Amino acid sequence: MNTLMKTEYSSMWVLSKNNTKTGVCVAQYIGRTDAECMESCEGCPLLESKHCYAHFASFVRVSHIRMIQCMEKENGKKYTMKEVYQDRFFRAARFIRLGARGDPSRSKVDTEQGMDVAKIWNLPVIGYTHFPEDVPQWKGRMMASCSEWEEADELVADGWKVAMDYEFPHSGITSPDGHQAIWCPHESTGGKVTCGECLLCCTEKESVPIILFKHKLPIWEKGRVNVGRNKRRNVSEVQ
Ligand code: SF4
Ligand code: SF4
Repeated sequence: MNTLMKTEYSSMWVLSKNNTKTGVCVAQYIGRTDAECMESCEGCPLLESKHCYAHFASFVRVSHIRMIQCMEKENGKKYTMKEVYQDRFFRAARFIRLGARGDPSRSKVDTEQGMDVAKIWNLPVIGYTHFPEDVPQWKGRMMASCSEWEEADELVADGWKVAMDYEFPHSGITSPDGHQAIWCPHESTGGKVTCGECLLCCTEKESVPIILFKHKLPIWEKGRVNVGRNKRRNVSEVQ
C-alpha cells in the first residue's frame, strides 16, 4: 500500500434511481474526491488492468464526479444517509449497494454504518471487496472479489461468497474444487433482470457460492470487440 494513502476514506451516499442494472437502491461511493476514490482501490488488479467497470467501463465515474461537483457548490448536497432517507423516492429502494465505486474496505467506518442502517431500514445489502484479508469481520456480510478460479476456491473454503471476473461466462460452471458458479442473471439475460429483483449478491440469499461477471473492457476498447468477427461470435454465444 502507498504510504501516503489514507487508511480511511469518507463515503458519499445517494439514492440511485436511474441505474438500469441495479434498479433503485441506496449507493455508497468511496471518497469525497475523484482522487480519493481511485486511491481507495490501490492494489486491486482491475484498477491496474483498467478492467474495472466502475472506473473505466461505464458512466459510474462520471456520475460520481458530478456528485462531487454538486457537493462543492455553496448549499450543495452533502450526500449523507440522512439526505437519502429524506428523498421522496426513498421507499422505492430495494437494497443498499456498498462500494458502487471504490472499495468499501478502505471506508470501514462508513461501511459499518451503512450495514447498521440497512438493518434499521430493513434493506438487504450488496457489496464487494477486493481486499477480504483486510476485513475478515465482513465475511458473510458482503462478497469477496477475485479474477482466478484458485483464489475463488480459497475464498469459498474460507467462508466467503465470491464474485469473480471471468472472460466468457456461461451457466453451470464448476470450479476446480467443485464449487458451483452461476453467471450474473442481469448479464446472462441481456439486462432483463435487475439487482433489486435478483439479489443473488446479497450474502443472506441462498445461492451457489461463486457468481461470475463478464470481463469488462474499458469504454475506449469496446469498439475493438465489435469489429472482430470471431470475438463478436464468442460474445453472442454466451448471451
Ligand atoms: S476495488 Fe472495485 S471499484 Fe476499485 S478498481 Fe477494484 S473493482 Fe474497481
Ligand atoms: S448476480 Fe444478481 S444481484 Fe448480483 S450483480 Fe447480478 S443481477 Fe445484481
